[in-house]
Amino acid sequence: MRVLILGGTGEARALAGRLHPDFDVVSSLAGRVPDPALPVGPVRIGGFGGADGLRKWLDDNAIAAVVDATHPFAATISANAANACGGLAVPHLVLSRPPWEVPAAVRVAGDTAAADMVAEKGYSRVFLTTGRSGTAAFADSDAWFLIRVVTQPDPQSLPERHELLLSRGPYELDGERKLMAANRIDVLVTKNSGGPLTRAKLDAAAELGVEIVMIERPPLPSGVATVGTVDEAVDWIRRLSRDSAVG
Ligand code: NAP
Repeated sequence: MRVLILGGTGEARALAGRLHPDFDVVSSLAGRVPDPALPVGPVRIGGFGGADGLRKWLDDNAIAAVVDATHPFAATISANAANACGGLAVPHLVLSRPPWEVPAAVRVAGDTAAADMVAEKGYSRVFLTTGRSGTAAFADSDAWFLIRVVTQPDPQSLPERHELLLSRGPYELDGERKLMAANRIDVLVTKNSGGPLTRAKLDAAAELGVEIVMIERPPLPSGVATVGTVDEAVDWIRRLSRDSAVG
């Protein structure tokens, strides 16, 4: 049974490691970062060319099941996968890690709403961790920003007063506490990515009394089976494989 894992996350890499070599697994990455952490087994890199391109690729490569283990904010590829798999009747699972529960956070719907909130509340020193494409909404802000991103954003998208920190998690509580204290941060603006690897910033913010503005996730494609853990995704593939052997 040939399985496509749509990846770019730690969960996708863990899933490939759990399925390989019992299953014929190919992982797909968008190709956004120059030196991506690679899963075990075959990997293809680059877009498919929208839902139609993905549908053709699934067909050409005789894919029997797709696990969409992309990041919870990667809404376009998730919608394309739902569309392509639905069209071909290829079994499709979304593996989406549970969101963080942070009752004290101010929840907003997107980057623009987060920027509006920063302006409205008059925050002056912002720790921004919403990713390379998340900076543009803050470009006209007169606050100061510590911007932590994996890859360099477009310089045009950056606010005038900022410091750029190019780095990739995971992050520990102690380091996050020191970083926020040293930069006298008064608000953390983050996406609700979930997962343990980048959670420490939330705990550090709570300890230091730093406010949190949390961008909520886009909705998942409707009508698609969804699980929250790698174990559940492995079970789903095994069950599918047993059922197809019986059928
Ligand atoms: P997106 O907006 O949903 O996707 C934009 C386009 O990138 C898609 O239409 C597709 O191009 C291509 N693409 C995305 N994921 C792909 C994959 N796994 N394999 C092949 N093509 C892919 O995605 P994004 O938010 O830019 O994220 C890109 C990748 O980075 C995702 O794989 C995601 O898991 C990872 N990532 C994203 C975030 C985040 O905050 N968004 C954080 C960490 C990691 P075509 O239409 O040409 O097929």
